[in-house]
Amino acid sequence: MLKIAVIGDPIEHSLSPIVHGAALSALGIDYEYERTRVKKGGLSDYIEYAKKNGICGFNLTMPHKVDVIPYLSEVDESGCVFDSVNTVCIKDSRLYGYNTDGVGYKLSLKRCGYTFDKSRVVILGAGGVVRTLAITAAMEGAESICILNRTKSRGEEVCEIVAQKTNIKIDCGNFLTSELEKRCSSADIVINATPLGMGGIDEDFASFDFLDGISKGALVSDLIYNPYETSLLKEAKIRGLKTQNGLGMLIYQALVADEYYLGQKIDMEEIYDSVEQAARCEMNI
Ligand code: NAP
Repeated sequence: MLKIAVIGDPIEHSLSPIVHGAALSALGIDYEYERTRVKKGGLSDYIEYAKKNGICGFNLTMPHKVDVIPYLSEVDESGCVFDSVNTVCIKDSRLYGYNTDGVGYKLSLKRCGYTFDKSRVVILGAGGVVRTLAITAAMEGAESICILNRTKSRGEEVCEIVAQKTNIKIDCGNFLTSELEKRCSSADIVINATPLGMGGIDEDFASFDFLDGISKGALVSDLIYNPYETSLLKEAKIRGLKTQNGLGMLIYQALVADEYYLGQKIDMEEIYDSVEQAARCEMNI
């Protein structure tokens, strides 16, 4: 029996149990999946519990992705590059850390026929996920990256970190409509990594006019998956642009984590649809 878990705080609304459950069921794996609220500072106790109770791996979300690093015997390249870990495997009481967010997003791009290679990428937002996306884009051969954020200094911080780790041409700007219009007009991939348009959040983009200047072959990608189609994606579609929501990233990062837990490759495309259906059913979308 494969015993795995997800920990974080808050954790009640995590979709991890559904996504991993659907994947492992589709693969015919006998599993148990626990969802455990672990507050900041509670990692040490949780790790003891996990070792004693035969848990062979766990996913981590806020606020543990960085705090877990000192507990790990080894961090693979992905965890080192992003300075954060979202997947831990326990083997012989030793902990091994990985980060599957970047590869998860990369695989979701591939599923809709895009790649970062030689692309001009514009990312809206400069929060936790953006550093991972920007480093992934740089490592995958993006031509340039532009970070547009409400608080410009946070965009500058991301630029500095990415420039230290890669040779990419990266710069940043503010989040005013005029700046969005100017920067997005020369983008091949525009990624929304702000919560604008998310279910339960009242705020949305002040204007979608910036979509008018985006060239027809470009992709507008929203990391939000609830609603399934945000106003941003609806407006992009109306303008004939290709769109993608955040469900693909969520599913692929989980499937890559499952490969680490199982110690074997998974035929992801074979099970993708059933996992997506389970996630959509859970969220009523
Ligand atoms: P975060 O660390 O909280 O960062 C949020 C970013 O959004 C910040 O840059 C913030 O700007 C900006 N922002 C917030 N409210 C805004 C507003 N009203 N107008 C303009 N900008 C605003 O969040 P995160 O962890 O990076 O996640 C970002 C988004 O990605 C969330 O929607 C999250 O759900 C989604 N996500 C999806 C997946 C997936 O698997 N699909 C994975 C991770 C994250 P300031 O710096 O000015 O505050």
